[in-house]
Amino acid sequence: MIANSGRAKKFIYTLHGNHHHYPRDKQRLFMPPVPSLILSSAIFGLMYLAMRQYTFMFFPGFLFGYLMYGTMHYAIHAWNPPFKWMKGLWRNHHLHHYKNEHNGYGVSSTIWDHAFGTMFDLKKEKEDKEKVKELMFEKKEK
Ligand SMILES: [Zn+2]
Ligand SMILES: [Zn+2]
Repeated sequence: MIANSGRAKKFIYTLHGNHHHYPRDKQRLFMPPVPSLILSSAIFGLMYLAMRQYTFMFFPGFLFGYLMYGTMHYAIHAWNPPFKWMKGLWRNHHLHHYKNEHNGYGVSSTIWDHAFGTMFDLKKEKEDKEKVKELMFEKKEK
């Protein structure tokens, strides 16, 4: 999203830009409880207007999916990939941080990066271990 007004820029910074400035700050990955409650209530309300009783099925799935996404993002900054097949997701997000923030948007899946042509060529990109370290919460030697 390209923001033109100052307010829109501030909004995007609050939602996402701050994480680029402080990738190692754990406090900035999940929204705090009170804004979360307000936002999710609003989303629930809008869904209820659109789909009535089906919201009681749809909304928990929506929230769960978003939490999984948030948890994946946390994991990518906290730990090494638990499985080899997940390594690509880790690299994709790390490259998004230190190489080019206009590529590699996918966190829990790279499907939309493939669809929109924003995928890094992971075979060509080599891993910058020092830069990756700067993105991780705790510096640890392997
Ligand atoms: Zn990140
Ligand atoms: Zn970003």
